[in-house]
Amino acid sequence: MPDQPRARTAWHTATIVEKLAETPHAVRLTLAAPTWPGSEPGTHLDVRLTAPDGYQASRSYSVASSTPAGNVVLAIDELPDGEVSPFLVQDARPGDQLEIHGPLGSYFTWLPGRSDRPVQLIAGGSGVVPLYAIALAHDAAGDPAHLQLLYSVRTPAEVFFADELAALTGPTFGLDLVYTREAPHDWPDPIGRLTRETLAARTIPASQRPHIYVCGSTGFVETITPWLVDLGHSATDVLTERFGGL
Ligand SMILES: Cc1cc2nc3c(=O)[nH]c(=O)nc-3n(C[C@H](O)[C@H](O)[C@H](O)COP(=O)(O)OP(=O)(O)OC[C@H]3O[C@@H](n4cnc5c(N)ncnc54)[C@H](O)[C@@H]3O)c2cc1C
Repeated sequence: MPDQPRARTAWHTATIVEKLAETPHAVRLTLAAPTWPGSEPGTHLDVRLTAPDGYQASRSYSVASSTPAGNVVLAIDELPDGEVSPFLVQDARPGDQLEIHGPLGSYFTWLPGRSDRPVQLIAGGSGVVPLYAIALAHDAAGDPAHLQLLYSVRTPAEVFFADELAALTGPTFGLDLVYTREAPHDWPDPIGRLTRETLAARTIPASQRPHIYVCGSTGFVETITPWLVDLGHSATDVLTERFGGL
């Protein structure tokens, strides 16, 4: 008898059940996808849109949270000259249907209880989405490993999951923001892009052998990763997810 197709590789029909403003340029979409198998924190899925004339376009989006056979939460930043993200941010409405495929990207997952080494998360912009999923899972499991998120973002208004990340901070989760264009009044740190020096000063040192997850635009990831190796981290301890662009 031939093997049954595995549910995780199928395309699933999903209905948008909620659309919220995440930042001035991004939305949070909650999808109801009854056949979705659930996903490990850090993974992504492909969204496929089909136009009335049959034209299809698909793009990858990280899963912010999901439940087996239930809801899937995505956070999508609009690239003004893009094909798919302006549709999802501007035009998509609750009740609309799309297709999702996944979960994908098991190379970028973190699971509770696997290691007691600390975890350094490093995000640029919307690259925080899979790292937020990891922080949520860490909190839900009460995992004792220390998690630290260094999050580079243009302005305070553009912080994804701002309230949720603030609520997660505590003895085992630290949140450290770097603003590249504008900071809150009285912000103590310099405004500007992440530098090698900032990275050295504000991340878990190599001597503690953290697992490291870096996610953001391709340019962000390719800038940060060699600095981490220069700082003494083993390349095998650094996992990366590139969202595209420069
Ligand atoms: C594994 C993975 C997970 C992702 N998760 C998310 C997510 O959670 N949230 C999210 O908002 N996006 C995410 N992305 C990016 C997403 O897949 C799309 O690339 C993005 O939405 C742009 O699609 P588009 O059709 O609007 O633009 P396109 O029409 O594909 O591109 C328009 C222009 O923008 C450039 N571009 C494409 N992607 C980027 C980028 N990320 N940054 C800067 N410039 C870019 C292109 O080179 C092109 O010039 C993820 C990408 C990958 C590979």
